Amino acid sequence: MQLTNRSKIVSNKKMTFVERLYFPAIFKGMMITLSHFFAKKATIDYPKEKREFSEIYRGQHVLKRDDQGRERCTACGLCALACPAEAITMVAEERLPSEEHLYREEKYAKTYEINMLRCIFCGLCEEACPKEAIFLTKRIVDAEYSRDKFIYGKDKLVEPLELDLRIDISKRQIPEVLEFKKDKTQRHNK
Ligand code: SF4
Ligand code: SF4
Repeated sequence: MQLTNRSKIVSNKKMTFVERLYFPAIFKGMMITLSHFFAKKATIDYPKEKREFSEIYRGQHVLKRDDQGRERCTACGLCALACPAEAITMVAEERLPSEEHLYREEKYAKTYEINMLRCIFCGLCEEACPKEAIFLTKRIVDAEYSRDKFIYGKDKLVEPLELDLRIDISKRQIPEVLEFKKDKTQRHNK
C-alpha cells in the first residue's frame, strides 16, 4: 500500500546523450543555489540584530519589587518545589525591624539562585509564586564561556530600584489576575 504520493518508481532505462553530459543537471543545481542568494534569509545576525519577542515569551527571570521598592519574595520555597528541573535554591532569613523598607514580608531570601543551565523555562515557578515575586521575561539569558556564570543570584535576578528601570510584567498577567490585584481587601494586595 502506498503511504504517500511522493514515492518515485526507479527505472533502469539508459540515459540519453544529453543526460550523460551532466551539464543540464549541474546547471539546474546551480540555478537552485543561485535562487537562494536572493531569497529572504531565515537567520539573523545575532547578537548585532535581535528578534522582537512576544510579551509572554518565557526568558530570563526577574524577582520583582513592590511599589515601595521592597523585595516581594518571602522565601517560601514554592517556586523551588514546583520547579521540575530543580534549578532554584534559596536561603531564607528573618527580616529585622530596621529592614522593613527592604523586604515586604517578615521573611526574605538572603540568597536566591537559579541555575540557567538546568532551567527549561517552563514558567512553573511563576505560576507557583503566591507573592507575584518571580516572573519570566522576554529577555534572553546571555551566552557565557564558563558554567558557573549561569548561576544567577539576586544581583542578576532582582529588578533595579529605579522606577524607570523596573521590568514591566503587566502584559504577562491575565485580566482575572489584574482584577484580583485591585481588590485591597485581599491581604495579598496590601
Ligand atoms: S522556568 Fe521552570 S525550570 Fe526554570 S526555574 Fe522556573 S520552574 Fe524551574
Ligand atoms: S519567588 Fe515566590 S514562590 Fe519563590 S520563594 Fe519567593 S515568594 Fe516563594
